[in-house]
Amino acid sequence: MPKIKIKKELLHTPKGTRDILSDEAKNWEFIETKAKEIASYYGFRQIRTPHLEKTELFTPVGEFTDIVEKQMYSFRTRGGDHLSLRPEGTIPIMRSYLQHGMNALPQPVMLYYSGSFFRHESPQRGRFREFGQFGLEMIGEEDAIADAIVIRVMTLILEELGLGQFTVHINTLGDQECRPIYRKELLNYYRRKVNYLCKDCKKRLKTNPLRLLDCVEEKCIELKKDAPQMIEYACDACRKHFREVFEFLDKLQIPYFLDHHLVRGLDYYTRTVFEIFYNPPVPLEEPKKAPIINTDLEEESVKTFPPQEVPTEEPPPMIVPERAAPLKLAIGSGGRYDQLSGTLSPKKIAGVGGALGIDRLVEIIIKSKIQIIKETHPKIFLIQLGPQGKQQSLVLLEEFRKAKMSVASALAKDSLKNQLRITNNLKVQYALILGQKEAIDGTIIVRDMASGAQETIDQSKLIDYFKKLKKNKKY
Ligand SMILES: [Zn+2]
Ligand SMILES: [Zn+2]
Repeated sequence: MPKIKIKKELLHTPKGTRDILSDEAKNWEFIETKAKEIASYYGFRQIRTPHLEKTELFTPVGEFTDIVEKQMYSFRTRGGDHLSLRPEGTIPIMRSYLQHGMNALPQPVMLYYSGSFFRHESPQRGRFREFGQFGLEMIGEEDAIADAIVIRVMTLILEELGLGQFTVHINTLGDQECRPIYRKELLNYYRRKVNYLCKDCKKRLKTNPLRLLDCVEEKCIELKKDAPQMIEYACDACRKHFREVFEFLDKLQIPYFLDHHLVRGLDYYTRTVFEIFYNPPVPLEEPKKAPIINTDLEEESVKTFPPQEVPTEEPPPMIVPERAAPLKLAIGSGGRYDQLSGTLSPKKIAGVGGALGIDRLVEIIIKSKIQIIKETHPKIFLIQLGPQGKQQSLVLLEEFRKAKMSVASALAKDSLKNQLRITNNLKVQYALILGQKEAIDGTIIVRDMASGAQETIDQSKLIDYFKKLKKNKKY
């Protein structure tokens, strides 16, 4: 027999992608369910757009270039169309809004989405090439209340997941009135320092100077400190909008930080942009002991430093003074995109949105051992023996399901011994035993696992039997 050569590399998911196995998927499902519940409460309705869109949708003329150039998965179909895997959620939703004439609906149109997005990232911590996002879009509303609602719902989701330690970094990018002036100032500033810029930033200087503020190279971060700030150049309307957003955030007690150099990776944003950072709680430090140099020293001579003074309980400051805190793990982001529709429609349509990165949320939840899911254990286990017992157990399981009672079983197991072992491991209250004889008689044995008492009853009375037990709080 010829030997089959097994390709080991086939047993790996493509770089930057991964399987989400059951234990982790549980967390995904919980987060998505929670997020949907909160978004729905605030009036957002679900939308599902295709994973594929026309490439051109993401490549309108203008500044929106970085993602397109480097990060999109684009290809040509057999029919000759140029398509791309969606790299983000907002543009497809704006496309859908226009395609389906949602501007005729009462405004704003509030939508939420959940799903996979694709970018050719270099896989680093928390970054995948296929990543999950839960996002919100509020289209057709210029007022700052919309910005506040998006941020409120996103932060509420975090709070309800037990991730209450976050800070919203926020900035304004101005609009078509005032941004060009700022852009020019920024150019003036950086042109004088061109020799100190990294290679990419030298390029950005020609294409999109705002992106210089986004650079992670150390020398560029240094230069950024003295760079002009958008707020200094914002026009009256942008200033007013920005101020109103804070007023809402203050009112809602959402901790935020004015990050005057926050620009965000996508270039269609106008006015409000924000990123949400998770601040891992600092572990409580043990009082430090002085190093023991001479082991012969008496124990009492080992000095103990006094524990660090714990500040008295005060409400957290609304504005974090420095960006030096251990932040850097953005778990969500978004912004206003009043100009986005410009390339797709003659009408200007205002909008604001944001998304939470589910991969990161799950990572944080697992690492910080936050128990978000209450494990429920079944209280009844159905043991089946023999082919007829197995067949009939499928019928009974379905009856239990319809009665909304949870019953565990191990239909793939045949021996009594194995099934009893599982029953014991699950610590159920009642075992049901359905053997060949019972299957023929139409009966079943109910065994109280604590007392060991058991009785045989008619299968037709089984559901009522447990309903009665439940009513008497016996299970
Ligand atoms: Zn740079
Ligand atoms: Zn402006």
